[in-house]
Order: sequence, then structure tokens, then C-alpha cells
Amino acid sequence: MEKTLEKELAKVSNLENLKRDYETKLQEKDDQQQQLLQRITELESTKQALAEDQQRAIDDLKLQYTTLNKDLEHDDEFSRKRIDDLNTELTSLQDRIIQIQEQIGREVEANSTLKTNISEASTGFADVESELHSLKSKVEQTDGTLLERQKKIEACDDQIVAMKWEVRQMEEQLREEEKMRRKLHNTIQELKGNIRVFCRIRPILEHEKQRGVNMASIHISGEDGENIELLEETYSSLGKLSKKTYSFSFDKVFAPESTQEDCYLEISQLIQSALDGYNVCIFAYGQTGSGKTYTMEGVPDGNSQPSGMIPRAVEQIYTMAQKLQEYNWEYNMEGQFMEIYNETIHDLLGDPTEYGKIKHEVRHDPDGKTIITDITTVPLDSMAKVSYMLARAKRNRATGATNMNERSSRSHSVFILKIFGHNVTTGEHSEGTLNLIDLAGSERLSVSGATGERLKETQAINKSLSCLGDVIHALINKKEGSHIPYRNSKLTYLLQNSLGGNSKTLMFVNLSPLSEHFGETLCSLRFATKVNSCKIGHLKRTIY
Ligand code: ADP
Ligand code: MG
Repeated sequence: MEKTLEKELAKVSNLENLKRDYETKLQEKDDQQQQLLQRITELESTKQALAEDQQRAIDDLKLQYTTLNKDLEHDDEFSRKRIDDLNTELTSLQDRIIQIQEQIGREVEANSTLKTNISEASTGFADVESELHSLKSKVEQTDGTLLERQKKIEACDDQIVAMKWEVRQMEEQLREEEKMRRKLHNTIQELKGNIRVFCRIRPILEHEKQRGVNMASIHISGEDGENIELLEETYSSLGKLSKKTYSFSFDKVFAPESTQEDCYLEISQLIQSALDGYNVCIFAYGQTGSGKTYTMEGVPDGNSQPSGMIPRAVEQIYTMAQKLQEYNWEYNMEGQFMEIYNETIHDLLGDPTEYGKIKHEVRHDPDGKTIITDITTVPLDSMAKVSYMLARAKRNRATGATNMNERSSRSHSVFILKIFGHNVTTGEHSEGTLNLIDLAGSERLSVSGATGERLKETQAINKSLSCLGDVIHALINKKEGSHIPYRNSKLTYLLQNSLGGNSKTLMFVNLSPLSEHFGETLCSLRFATKVNSCKIGHLKRTIY
């Protein structure tokens, strides 16, 4: 039982404790309630204050709202206006856009055309571009080359200056050489003889062959064909044959088969002398029909036939004058053509109706120039002019005389070619004269039978030819101060300045090959011997 008590007691104590706990807790609760009530009161007053604040805030807002509303109304008006403006702008922009769109449309169209064009062009363009490219590279190359060239040019310029100087030196030397050539050429000519005699035997002509003529016995010999032998066979009244040989020696003897060219070769050096300023006379001597005119002029009107000494000489003068231009020599030429008949000069280039009416005088200037009064002088600037002049002279000779063939064989025809040289560098002048004379026939006419005109003619020819022989003979055998009979004939007087001194004389002695002309041939050879200096010796001939 105790235990139960104890238990009860423990229970009571627990209960008592519990009761105390509750009582404390109750107290606590009471306190809490009290606090809460106080808090509520506080909140009540806070709530009151808040409500008042709220009311005030609402009032404020209401006021604000009214103000705002007013502002808004004002703004609205502004906005509307702004909107209107904007609308207007918009409209104009829209218009502009439409415009631009149209423009774009057009541009697009144009562009599409351009595009097609471009695509077409681009094909070509590619080519052009590649060409351009290659050109560019070329230009670059050229630039390099140009630079190189420039350098070369500069080097060349220097070289040119040096060369010009050298050229001047050489030109100087050339002029000296040319001077020397002239001097040497002249020395050679003088050594060959200032007077030379050539014989020329013509061939038998066709009509003579047909006639069955006999050939004379003529023999040419010597190293240069300088000797000629004539064999004469005569029968005595008893029928005894006697032979006689005549021997002659000349500078050269041309056989019947020799050509015009062969003959010209020998005289061409004298033409050079005429260009160098010397006076030259070339004569053709011989009986009528021996070939004088053939030798001097060639066959009359025979275009295909080889031309004679006159055309060849003139041609050579033109050629040489051209060559001498290299040495700065300029040449001018002029010609005169006359006939000496019965010791009277006739102008063959003048008016044929005046023929024989004008008296031509020969005068010699102190400076060695020969003047023939009133004679026609023709400037000869071309070969054609020369041919024309020769033809005119021939025509005048024919119209001037009643019988041309007869007359021409009884007059001397004289062609005078004057050659004026001028060296443009040195200022030197040269003046040479080339005289080409086709002499009157040398055949001896029987004076006894001739009368009147014919007698006068014959005497004039004989005198004139023998006078020519005398002059040349006197020149060859000239002694200091000896007299040269130039004045004894018109021909020698006319040619005074071209015979003697430094002048060169060449005589063609033309011979017929026929035995019937033996006597004349012998006479011609004797005349030739008189004017030839061979027998006197080479040295002698050079001194006069
Ligand atoms: P000349 O003038 O001396 O009187 P030509 O020159 O008229 O003589 O000549 C007489 C003829 O002989 C002419 O028919 C001419 O053609 C001819 N003849 C002269 N020489 C020769 C020659 N070397 N060759 C050919 N024919 C010639
Ligand atoms: Mg003749």
C-alpha cells in the first residue's frame, strides 16, 4: 500500500507542479493579451493616421490629374499639327519614293542594256586587256631599251664628233690627193707629149668592095702599133717592078678594124685634162672620105652606130664632173659650134638666115681668154642639149651651104666646149677648153685647073692646113722667144690659147686604105710627121 501511496503522493506532487505550471502560463497569457491589446490600440491610431495620409495623397493626385489633363489637351493640339506636318512630309516623301522608284525602274532598264553591252564588250575587253597587258610589258621593256639607246646615242654623239673631225681631216687629205692627182695626171700627159699624133686607117666600105678596088699595102708594126709602113710598087716603062717602102712612127696607129672605143680610150685622158683646167685640141686631118667626120662625130644620123669622139668626150665630161662633186667641184659647161670657110667664121648655132652676114672677130684677152664676137653660146647642162646642139649645127651647115657634102669637106668645123670648175670648199676655179676640130679635106686640088671661088677655096684650105702644120711644128721645136705663126690663119689664131703652153694637142690623121689614094695617104703621113715629135725624142717633146 505504501507504494500505492507513494505513487499517489508522487501523483499529487506532479499534479501540484502541473498546476503551478499552468498558473504561470496563465499569467504569461494574461500578460501577452495585455500587450496585444495595447498593440491593437497602437495600430488603430496608426491606421487612422494612414487613412488621413491617403486622403491627402488622393487629393494631390486629383489635382495633378487635372493639371495633366489640361497639359494633355494642349499637347494634343500640337501633336495634331505635327502629325499634319508629318503627313504632308510623308505624302511628299511618298511622291519622291514613287519618282525614285520610277527612276530606279529606268535605271534598271538602262543597266540591263548596259549589262548586255558590257557582257558583249567584256569579251572584247578581255582581248584588249591582254593586249594592254602585253603592251605594258613591252613598254617596260622599251623603257629599258630606250635608256640603253640613250646611252648608245650619247656614245654615238661623241663618236660622231670625233668622226666629223676625222672626216674634215680626210677631206683635207682628199683635196690634197685630188690636187696631187691633177698634177700627176698632167705630168703623165706631158711625158706622153703635149702634142700627140694618131693615125687611123678606115676599113674598105661595102660599095668600094663591090667596085673591086685595090687595097694599098699598109703594114702596122711596133710594140704599141706605133709604126706604119707603106709599100709602093711601080713598074718602069720597061716593065721592071720597083718597090719602095715609106716608114713612119707615131704615138699610135689604129688598124681598119679598130673601133671608136679603141680610139676613144687613147684620148679620154685628155678629156680629164680639160676638166682639170687645161686647154685641149683634138683635130681630125685627112683627105675627104678618109673618116674624119666618122671619127669625130660618128655616122650621121646613125643612132645604132657607135658614136664618135665628140659625144663620147661630152659624156665623159658629165660623168667625171659628177664624180668630182665628191671633191666639192661644181662644173658648168657651154658650147659654141662654128665653121671656118674661106678664112671666115660662120656661127653654126645662130640663125641660119643670118649665115654669112655677120662678121665674127676673134680677140684674145690678156688673161688668156678667147672671145669670138656675136657667136652663139649654148649652156650645156645635159647630154640631150649636146645632142640637140650637134644636130642644129649639122642642119645649119646644110642650109648654109649650097652643097653640104662638098662644102663641109672644104671647111673646118670647130666645136668649142668650155668647162668651168669651181671648188665650193677651197674657192679654187678652173677653166678648161676642149676644142674638137673636123678639118677640111686635105686632098690637093689641082690649082692650075681651078678658077674663081673654087681657086680661092682651095688656096684658103691649103694655107690654113699648112699654117696649122707650121704652128704645131714651131711649138715642138720651140726655142726661147721664138715666133709662133698663129696669125697666119683664122684657125690657128682662133685656137691660139689652146695650142702651146700647157695645152694638149691630139691629131687624128685619117687614112684611106685604097691604093688609088696612095698619094694622098703619103701626103697625110708626111704632114703627120711634121706635127709629130717622135723623131725629136720623148724628152724634147715635154719641154716647151
Ligand atoms: P671625111 O669626113 O673624112 O670626109 P667620113 O667620115 O665622111 O670621111 O667617112 C667616109 C665614109 O667612110 C663614110 O661613109 C663613113 O661612114 C665611112 N667610114 C669612115 N671611117 C670608118 C670606120 N672607121 N669604120 C667604118 N666606116 C667608116
Ligand atoms: Mg667629113
